[in-house]
Amino acid sequence: MSRKKIIAANWKMNKTSTEAKAFMQAFKTELGAFDGAEAVIVPSFVSIATVATEIAGAKNIQVGAQNVYWEKSGAFTAEISTDMLKDLGVTYVVIGHSERRQFFGETNETVNKRIKAALAAGLRPIFCIGETLTEREAGRLVEVITSQVKEGLANITGEEITELVLAYEPVWAIGTGKVATPEQAQEVHALIRKTLAEMYGEKLAGQLRIQYGGSVKAANAKELLHQEDIDGALVGGASLDPREFALIVKAAVK
Ligand code: PEP
Repeated sequence: MSRKKIIAANWKMNKTSTEAKAFMQAFKTELGAFDGAEAVIVPSFVSIATVATEIAGAKNIQVGAQNVYWEKSGAFTAEISTDMLKDLGVTYVVIGHSERRQFFGETNETVNKRIKAALAAGLRPIFCIGETLTEREAGRLVEVITSQVKEGLANITGEEITELVLAYEPVWAIGTGKVATPEQAQEVHALIRKTLAEMYGEKLAGQLRIQYGGSVKAANAKELLHQEDIDGALVGGASLDPREFALIVKAAVK
């Protein structure tokens, strides 16, 4: 089963719109013409329009958002709706990032609501899961990962899920410089795919893309991306530099 690799830049709360524009111009130059993989830039909400303008006409580069609310509209101060994102040209939306879970009270249940709303609106969720170091060391890796997958995708059908991307991000590897070994990452990716197969069947599970995230950089990208069940990367820190991020995208193509 050939799955097109997808490399996403999660900028978190970094870069003004002015900086986003400068990044995009440098990134496009560094990347040049490329094919065979997808790059997604996920800026803060306020820079989405700038990035969308910069990618107009660029092949294989999309813009994403860092979250979305499940209600269509109304009295939900500071929230962002699916329609607002679509109107700006957003394709992908990151949902359930560990920083949202850790600092902003996101749960498997709220993640599930956001995924449902995104899919219903035709947005493609990048659904993040991952264990903490305490959970891993307590031998709870399998339990945590399977329950995040099952609860995050509760009551979502196989037909609905085809555009969804998963991102396995061990919390202990995010922003720490401690990257999971390719073998450690592959082991959990295989577990995720097995869980998906139990829920949706082997065929669909074999089509869904699973990114790895956690201290990915140009120097380690290739080895991770060559693992059987690793179909891309969600990149934080290293995605802030246009040259470094272009090298990671290129590693997915080779
Ligand atoms: C992330 O925030 O999704 C992430 C993986 O960050 P970093 O690459 O900095 O570890």
